[in-house]
Amino acid sequence: MITVNEIYFSIQGESSKAGLPCVFVRLTFCNLRCKYCDTEYAFYKGTELSLDEIVMRVKEYNCTLVEITGGEPLVQTESLLLMKTLADNGFEVMLETSGSLPIKEIDPRVMIIMDLKCPSSGMVKKNFYENINYLKPTDEIKFVLGSKEDYDWSKQIIDEYNLTNKAGVLFSVVFGTLDPKDVVKWMLEDKLNVRFQLQMHKFIWEAATKGV
Ligand code: SF4
Repeated sequence: MITVNEIYFSIQGESSKAGLPCVFVRLTFCNLRCKYCDTEYAFYKGTELSLDEIVMRVKEYNCTLVEITGGEPLVQTESLLLMKTLADNGFEVMLETSGSLPIKEIDPRVMIIMDLKCPSSGMVKKNFYENINYLKPTDEIKFVLGSKEDYDWSKQIIDEYNLTNKAGVLFSVVFGTLDPKDVVKWMLEDKLNVRFQLQMHKFIWEAATKGV
């Protein structure tokens, strides 16, 4: 059984799949407490569902793209089997993970969107850098920036781990803090080969809206 906070149909708001219709399976629990977290409601609340029940619910939307998100999905080890089962059923599976737990055992058919937590999140010490060895070129690494210090730190980490040669690299800002114009300016000045993104869903709906 897996504890599920919500299952809903919306558009993908981030990553290179942004704008595409997607079914989201939000799993309960998280091992981190980022200062800017916008999904605290997923820390504890949820319903226990079997793998079959989840797959059946996902199929109802008749959409091939599905994302497992949280909370932190990898807290529940059953999420590995969920991702495999969804891929076996022909779904294109994405995973959003904080980068604090091992990704080694994830089915290779899954597209991993992995955060590396920046200093302003308060969780930078939780980054599990060994994960970088298990990323595929089709995966993406996401930095959520809340300050110039975060930007400088991210630039240094990209360089240190040669990240742009290992996976796609995404920059976004903590909603309502850092001005996107500044980040884009810095990126262009530094000629960083990263993709800037805004959380599209927060512009379409109210920033605090759930289930979109
Ligand atoms: S990892 Fe995600 S869900 Fe967990 S505290 Fe950080 S932002 Fe919130």
